[in-house]
Amino acid sequence: MKAIIAEPPKRNSVKLVEIPKPNPRRGQVLLKTLCVGVDGTDREINEGIYGTPPRGSQSLVLGHECLARVHEIGNQVKGFYEGDLVAPTVRRPCLENCLNCRNGEPDMCLTGNYFEHGIYNLHGFAGEYAISDANFLVKIPSEIEGLAVLLEPFSIVEKAVTQSFKIQERLTWKPKRAFVVGAGPLGLLATMIMRLKGLEVYTAATREKESLKARIVSSVGGTYINVREMPIKTLKKKFSMVIEATGRVEAALEALSLLGPNSVMCFLGVYRERRACKEFGKVLTTMVLENRLMFGSVSSNKSHFEEGIKDMVVLKRRYGKVLSKLITKELNLTDFNQAFKPERGDIKTIIYFK
Ligand code: BGC
Ligand code: ZN
Repeated sequence: MKAIIAEPPKRNSVKLVEIPKPNPRRGQVLLKTLCVGVDGTDREINEGIYGTPPRGSQSLVLGHECLARVHEIGNQVKGFYEGDLVAPTVRRPCLENCLNCRNGEPDMCLTGNYFEHGIYNLHGFAGEYAISDANFLVKIPSEIEGLAVLLEPFSIVEKAVTQSFKIQERLTWKPKRAFVVGAGPLGLLATMIMRLKGLEVYTAATREKESLKARIVSSVGGTYINVREMPIKTLKKKFSMVIEATGRVEAALEALSLLGPNSVMCFLGVYRERRACKEFGKVLTTMVLENRLMFGSVSSNKSHFEEGIKDMVVLKRRYGKVLSKLITKELNLTDFNQAFKPERGDIKTIIYFK
């Protein structure tokens, strides 16, 4: 079968190769991949700065954002049938099967020895066929079939928002205004999910007001801010909730000034490490004096995928085609390479296997 592989830490190693079709073992299913989404993580793996092939292998099959059909069922798999439309989650429990991994929260793994399909120690779904444990599959209702390849990034933000609300149960909290830093796929999905929560949402990025990103923000009732015209520092408003989705240290630090009393801020990026800057002392003091809370969030689990499905259905009913606007490039497998050479207008690129 054909598969897209990379060989981290080699640079620009992504290629389309012929490899043997895998066999489902006990508890596993063989998936027929329909399509995969490509994100910054995939590009970093191709740059050789992230990602680890499975033990004993030089190469890693890419792909962690996947929509597939169940093709074959291994022994002792219950509840799935050939032809079911499914999306697999990314993380799998650690070898030690720690407390959180045991409890269906491998995204909260304690040991760091977890596996991530297509990223870390485990092949991904960017092959004509792929393997997943049945326990980590969610069924996709036909209503969102065309959008469900976005479910994995959606689940990342679903987790960030859910966790923010849970964490804020520490106090009496009625958030009104939320801020999203960045308008890539995660920033735009965060905007949508927080609009569904009834929040007034401001989303900031570097694109013009007429750009597709800005239009997506307005079409769900959000306010778009072009930071080239209106830098974050100059904004006077304070926010109950901030989601950082650029992965840029400078943007993240600037956004700290948006936090109001009792607020919460969630970081979703992997930040390049820099020397601690001198403003940091002030940042910490204000955090204390205003009971602010900052936290990081990585990956997602089945519950976030399931919540994501519900929200996708509501979004579709309420705002029509807005989710599909995120998909700005659809490639055939033979053109997969283009997904690793992003262009300015791109938001989400999808590669089709069918
Ligand atoms: C994936 C997460 C994963 C993270 C770090 C992201 O692209 O969506 O599931 O945990 O990369 O490897
Ligand atoms: Zn674990």
